[in-house]
Amino acid sequence: MKRGIEWKCTACGHTFRTCGTQPFYRNEKNERKPHGYPEPLSEEAARTGIKGFWVEWYCPKCKCAQDAVLIEYEAHRKDRTAWSGLRDKHTRQQPVCPKCGTNLKVFLDEDDVCPKCSKGTFEISCFWGGGNR
Ligand SMILES: [Zn+2]
Ligand SMILES: [Zn+2]
Repeated sequence: MKRGIEWKCTACGHTFRTCGTQPFYRNEKNERKPHGYPEPLSEEAARTGIKGFWVEWYCPKCKCAQDAVLIEYEAHRKDRTAWSGLRDKHTRQQPVCPKCGTNLKVFLDEDDVCPKCSKGTFEISCFWGGGNR
């Protein structure tokens, strides 16, 4: 299940969501596909294993959430070893926006002005999603 943070503009109430770490796999065409957790989303996902993890974080230039790869292993891994690799800082890369190449941010700050009203900044409205992980 996906989970993450809902951000809300302090001036106009515009909201958007960022999303935490999600496992993915690559199919035979090398396309990145959501793997799903705790249960794999498909038989193909279960059979293939986890290639890495992706996130949907904020791009300060596009002013919206973008999805990008956080970790990609050389080969698919089984569930448990894939998740334990998340703790290893060396395997992580700084996720960059696929559209403009800017470093994505997990937390917004006072520099991130609302794209709707150009006045407010964003604060955490709530945490969304579920699961125990
Ligand atoms: Zn606003
Ligand atoms: Zn961008």
